[in-house]
Amino acid sequence: MSHNNHKPARRSGRRHEAEGFTCINCKLRVPGQAWGTKHRNHCPACLYSRHVDDQPGDRACSCRSPMEPIAIEAKSDGEWSIVHRCTGCGVIKLNRIAGDDSERALLNLALRPLSRPAFPLDDAR
Ligand SMILES: [Zn+2]
Ligand SMILES: [Zn+2]
Repeated sequence: MSHNNHKPARRSGRRHEAEGFTCINCKLRVPGQAWGTKHRNHCPACLYSRHVDDQPGDRACSCRSPMEPIAIEAKSDGEWSIVHRCTGCGVIKLNRIAGDDSERALLNLALRPLSRPAFPLDDAR
Protein backbone atom coordinates (compact mmCIF):
# COMPACT_ATOMS: atom_id res chain seq x y z
CA MET A 1 0.00 0.00 0.00
CA SER A 2 1.42 3.32 -0.97
CA HIS A 3 0.71 6.51 0.80
CA ASN A 4 -0.02 9.55 -1.32
CA ASN A 5 0.84 12.86 0.17
CA HIS A 6 -0.92 15.99 -0.95
CA LYS A 7 1.91 18.38 -1.43
CA PRO A 8 1.63 20.50 -4.57
CA ALA A 9 3.29 18.77 -7.47
CA ARG A 10 6.82 19.91 -8.05
CA ARG A 11 7.98 18.08 -11.08
CA SER A 12 11.18 19.96 -11.67
CA GLY A 13 13.91 20.67 -9.21
CA ARG A 14 14.27 24.31 -10.15
CA ARG A 15 13.58 26.54 -7.22
CA HIS A 16 13.11 29.76 -9.14
CA GLU A 17 9.98 28.91 -11.04
CA ALA A 18 7.50 29.57 -8.29
CA GLU A 19 9.21 32.53 -6.70
CA GLY A 20 7.72 35.30 -8.74
CA PHE A 21 9.32 38.68 -9.38
CA THR A 22 8.70 42.40 -9.33
CA CYS A 23 7.91 43.85 -12.74
CA ILE A 24 10.86 45.85 -13.99
CA ASN A 25 8.54 48.27 -15.81
CA CYS A 26 5.41 48.89 -13.69
CA LYS A 27 6.71 47.47 -10.36
CA LEU A 28 3.80 45.05 -10.00
CA ARG A 29 4.55 42.14 -7.70
CA VAL A 30 4.03 39.11 -9.93
CA PRO A 31 3.50 35.64 -8.43
CA GLY A 32 5.49 32.87 -10.03
CA GLN A 33 2.63 30.54 -10.86
CA ALA A 34 0.06 31.31 -13.51
CA TRP A 35 -2.51 29.32 -15.34
CA GLY A 36 -1.35 28.31 -18.80
CA THR A 37 2.37 28.71 -18.32
CA LYS A 38 5.18 26.85 -16.64
CA HIS A 39 7.69 29.64 -16.89
CA ARG A 40 6.08 32.92 -16.01
CA ASN A 41 8.47 35.46 -17.35
CA HIS A 42 6.47 38.55 -18.10
CA CYS A 43 4.21 40.95 -16.23
CA PRO A 44 0.48 40.23 -16.67
CA ALA A 45 -0.34 43.95 -16.50
CA CYS A 46 2.13 45.63 -18.87
CA LEU A 47 3.60 42.47 -20.50
CA TYR A 48 7.20 43.56 -19.94
CA SER A 49 9.69 40.81 -19.32
CA ARG A 50 13.30 40.76 -18.22
CA HIS A 51 16.23 39.18 -19.98
CA VAL A 52 17.28 36.54 -17.49
CA ASP A 53 16.97 33.28 -19.43
CA ASP A 54 19.05 31.75 -22.17
CA GLN A 55 16.62 28.85 -22.30
CA PRO A 56 13.15 29.27 -20.80
CA GLY A 57 13.37 29.09 -17.03
CA ASP A 58 17.13 28.64 -16.70
CA ARG A 59 17.88 32.16 -15.38
CA ALA A 60 21.32 31.77 -16.93
CA CYS A 61 21.59 35.09 -18.76
CA SER A 62 23.45 37.93 -17.11
CA CYS A 63 21.89 40.67 -19.28
CA ARG A 64 19.00 41.45 -16.86
CA SER A 65 17.72 44.28 -19.06
CA PRO A 66 14.00 44.97 -19.51
CA MET A 67 12.43 43.22 -22.46
CA GLU A 68 9.82 45.31 -24.22
CA PRO A 69 6.74 43.63 -25.71
CA ILE A 70 6.77 44.65 -29.38
CA ALA A 71 4.25 42.39 -31.12
CA ILE A 72 1.89 39.43 -30.92
CA GLU A 73 2.43 36.22 -32.84
CA ALA A 74 -0.82 34.38 -33.57
CA LYS A 75 -0.37 30.77 -34.60
CA SER A 76 -2.85 28.97 -36.82
CA ASP A 77 -4.16 27.01 -33.83
CA GLY A 78 -5.10 30.25 -32.12
CA GLU A 79 -2.27 30.26 -29.62
CA TRP A 80 -0.76 33.66 -29.00
CA SER A 81 2.79 34.51 -28.12
CA ILE A 82 4.29 37.83 -27.16
CA VAL A 83 7.35 38.98 -29.07
CA HIS A 84 9.79 40.53 -26.61
CA ARG A 85 12.84 42.57 -27.59
CA CYS A 86 15.56 43.12 -25.03
CA THR A 87 16.25 46.81 -24.51
CA GLY A 88 19.82 45.95 -23.49
CA CYS A 89 21.19 43.52 -26.05
CA GLY A 90 18.42 43.56 -28.67
CA VAL A 91 17.69 39.84 -28.63
CA ILE A 92 14.14 38.90 -29.65
CA LYS A 93 12.25 36.12 -27.90
CA LEU A 94 8.79 34.59 -28.15
CA ASN A 95 6.88 33.92 -24.96
CA ARG A 96 3.53 32.21 -24.75
CA ILE A 97 0.86 34.32 -23.13
CA ALA A 98 -0.28 33.34 -19.64
CA GLY A 99 -3.86 32.78 -18.55
CA ASP A 100 -4.01 35.95 -16.49
CA ASP A 101 -2.27 38.33 -18.86
CA SER A 102 -4.22 41.55 -19.33
CA GLU A 103 -6.46 41.09 -22.35
CA ARG A 104 -6.49 44.84 -22.86
CA ALA A 105 -2.70 44.99 -22.93
CA LEU A 106 -2.55 42.02 -25.31
CA LEU A 107 -5.08 43.59 -27.66
CA ASN A 108 -3.33 46.94 -27.56
CA LEU A 109 -0.14 45.19 -28.57
CA ALA A 110 -1.86 43.17 -31.30
CA LEU A 111 -3.55 46.26 -32.73
CA ARG A 112 -0.53 48.52 -32.54
CA PRO A 113 0.34 48.34 -36.26
CA LEU A 114 -3.28 49.11 -37.16
CA SER A 115 -3.32 52.15 -34.93
CA ARG A 116 -0.14 53.43 -36.59
CA PRO A 117 -0.46 52.33 -40.20
CA ALA A 118 2.58 52.78 -42.38
CA PHE A 119 0.36 53.12 -45.46
CA PRO A 120 -3.27 54.14 -46.05
CA LEU A 121 -5.42 51.24 -44.88
CA ASP A 122 -8.25 52.22 -47.24
CA ASP A 123 -6.08 51.23 -50.19
CA ALA A 124 -4.93 47.91 -48.77
CA ARG A 125 -7.42 45.57 -50.40
ZN1 LIG B 1 4.45 45.37 -15.45
ZN1 LIG C 1 19.47 41.22 -23.16
